Amino acid sequence: MNFKEFGNTEQKLSALGIGTWDIGNNVKENVDSIKFAIDNGINFIDTAEMYGTEPVVARAIKGYDRSGLFIATKVWPDHFSHDAVIKSCNDSLKKLETDYIDLYQLHWPSRTIPIGETMKAMEELKDQGKIRYIGISNFSVDQTKEAMESMNKYKIASNQVEYSMVTRDIERSGIYDFCRSNKIAVIAYSPLSHGKIFSKKTMIDELSKIGTHYGATASQMALAWLMNKDNVFPIPKATNGTHMKENIASTEIRINPEDMKKMDAMEAKYYEDSIASRHSSN
Ligand code: NAP
Repeated sequence: MNFKEFGNTEQKLSALGIGTWDIGNNVKENVDSIKFAIDNGINFIDTAEMYGTEPVVARAIKGYDRSGLFIATKVWPDHFSHDAVIKSCNDSLKKLETDYIDLYQLHWPSRTIPIGETMKAMEELKDQGKIRYIGISNFSVDQTKEAMESMNKYKIASNQVEYSMVTRDIERSGIYDFCRSNKIAVIAYSPLSHGKIFSKKTMIDELSKIGTHYGATASQMALAWLMNKDNVFPIPKATNGTHMKENIASTEIRINPEDMKKMDAMEAKYYEDSIASRHSSN
């Protein structure tokens, strides 16, 4: 397993985390699948109060050395008032059946509650040892700066944002560069664009072609492209056991700089192709 330093935390996390949103209704299968990931070196599992999957994670991690795992969960914006943050955290601790959360994240920015009030509660939770690190999710550069400035004692460890070969908004908006220069880890959610990547034939063909040098499939190359960026941690969701195995195996892929450059340029090419095909069909 490839381990990487997680932002400014000095914690080594598996380069791949496990996403648990919408993991399906078969709890036993979900639990077994997370256990399989842990048994194969994954130590980073992401959930959220909103997903309803904290109890599934609790069942999966039972019996493992808690200190070897990094459990991330999130508080929903409806609960961003000071007291509601504290209550949500206590509820998540109960559902996760644990004494502490490794990474507690604000799921989306709030339109109504001032960030200072929310962050005061987050800092208190950290002081009490209920959470180890503070993260944000879906925050723009300006919202991230505001969150950083509203904390007195602690730093933002991570920003969880959508990022994949086909969803590259964080590169254009400046989030990627800002996080990198401030040692804020980027947790890449929907790293296979919810499975939509497989409908982009030009891209999949090119990824498969590059993948032949690495003995890797197109989906493995798409995940490896993210993992080969030092500050990025993809968290794919896989309910299918074969997918889970394939994703875990992708952590071993080291893409050479020339192929990374080719892959970096693929989105532009993909869009050129789709514009060309739209013109030709008009
Ligand atoms: P994703 O991981 O990009 O894609 C999941 C889809 O890809 C599923 O249909 C899965 O199928 C399929 N898949 C996984 N591995 C595959 C493989 N090796 N080959 C072929 N297909 C594969 O999308 P996501 O679930 O939206 O995102 C992942 C995680 O990000 C979520 O679970 C959640 O934890 C997090 N997230 C966070 C936010 C946020 O606001 N912070 C928003 C969305 C998601 P099977 O299930 O059949 O294996």
